[in-house]
Formats: sequence, structure tokens, C-alpha cells
Amino acid sequence: MTPSTPTPHDPPARRRLPRRGLAGVALLTAGALGAAGGAALTHRLDTHLAPTDRVAPAPTGPGALTARVLLQGPDNAPRACITFDDGPDPTWTPLVLDLLAAAGASATFFVLGQAATAHPDLIAREAGAGHEIGVHNWVHTDVYSADADHLRADVDRTIAAIEAAGAPRPGLWRPPYGRIDAPALAVAAERGLDLLLWSEHTPSAEHARALTTRAHAGSIILCHDGRTQPSRELLEAVGQSLIALADRGLTFVTGSQMLAATLAP
Ligand SMILES: [Zn+2]
Repeated sequence: MTPSTPTPHDPPARRRLPRRGLAGVALLTAGALGAAGGAALTHRLDTHLAPTDRVAPAPTGPGALTARVLLQGPDNAPRACITFDDGPDPTWTPLVLDLLAAAGASATFFVLGQAATAHPDLIAREAGAGHEIGVHNWVHTDVYSADADHLRADVDRTIAAIEAAGAPRPGLWRPPYGRIDAPALAVAAERGLDLLLWSEHTPSAEHARALTTRAHAGSIILCHDGRTQPSRELLEAVGQSLIALADRGLTFVTGSQMLAATLAP
């Protein structure tokens, strides 16, 4: 879905990853992306450098360096994903948990590590209700402009914050703005994280209401339960659409469940 009104959460079209195959899965081998690995990178993107100077670092550990990227799930069963980024937030996350319970939906929360450290009770509530918790970033910085060492440290302390709150170790990562490049893919691969992006967006209540006609089997829906975007009107519209879609037979599964369904023969 391409919203009519761009928002800060819309990655520029030129930076979207290409779809691979019907289910939208791209298998990316980080080692293959890092032919010039080991080059020194600045913490912030040097605008004097070409984008192609952004290379993956040399592998730092054994094992296959592969990160999977899911944009949309398969349509061979009536399942979809609802996801919430930028939380946890004491104002919005409890409301989201209530609307998910009312709709009987499982969700995936891509949380900020700093917020998870501040509100471990909300992480515990999300996990206790059967939702999945994944990594967004430590704070809402664009990973496209971070060097691999800094990014690795931010991902690690976000994982630690999630686990410290009592949730399982995350297996999914959604970088802010959906932006990803070779250094960040290498970090994902090193840490055993797959990437879940999205196929539907809800930047307004109008978009949230339109989910009743736009969402379909395989949809991965992006919403927010933190920072600047949430509003009661928008989130209540999301909840009403989830109930309507569930009444039509759509089951909302976690991101990892959708990825597993995509990879199943
Ligand atoms: Zn975000």
C-alpha cells in the first residue's frame, strides 16, 4: 500500500528492497554483500561518500551469514500480521493490548531498547499475552547512517533490554523507516535476526479504516504504539478493522509465524 500522503515513516521508494518471488521473501547473504569488508566507517554517514561506499564489515564469527527479509506473507491461508513500532509507551501500549485482546489477534511489537528499559512491565505484558517482541533500535535512529560497530552495540543492548523484561530473545528486526543496507544486514545476520518489513501502512485513521478492504491474506500491517504517530482515533480504527477482518476469517499471527509459513514447503 502506498499512502497518498507521505509521512516520516515512509522510506523513499528508491530505498525499498526488491520483492523476490510471490511471497516477497528475499534471502540475502551478508558475506556476499561485503566483498570489500573491513573498511573503516564513520558513525554518521559521510555525505561526501557515495552510497556504494557503505560495505558490510568482515564477518566476526562462524556460521552462515544470512538474513531473511519478509515484505509480505503467502496468500495460501487466511493469515496476516499486525505490527506495532516505536513502543512501549505507557499511554498507547495498554490501549493496543486491549484492542488486540478484543480482536483475538496476535501481534508483533518492534520496540525501542531505551523504552523497553524504561517500561519493562509493558514488555512483560506483551509477551505474557502471547505477542512477539522484536528489535526496532535502541533509539529511533536511522541504521543507514550508523557504522556496524555502533549498530551492533545498539542491537545488543536492545536485545538485552527485551530479555531483561522476561520476553524471549528476539528473532526479528525492523530497522526504523525500513531502511537497511549491507552493514546493517551483516549485523542482522551475525545476531541471528531476520527482517520483517510491511505491505500495509496506517499513517492515519482513514488508512486504518481502509484496512477492511485493503488487507488480505499475507498482509503485514505497520502501526505504531509510540513516539509521535499514535492517536486514540487511529488506534481505535485499527482495532475496529482487526475485528472486522477477523469476522471475515482472517487470523492474525506473529511475524515469526508468518515467516515460518512463508518458508514451509
Ligand atoms: Zn519506527
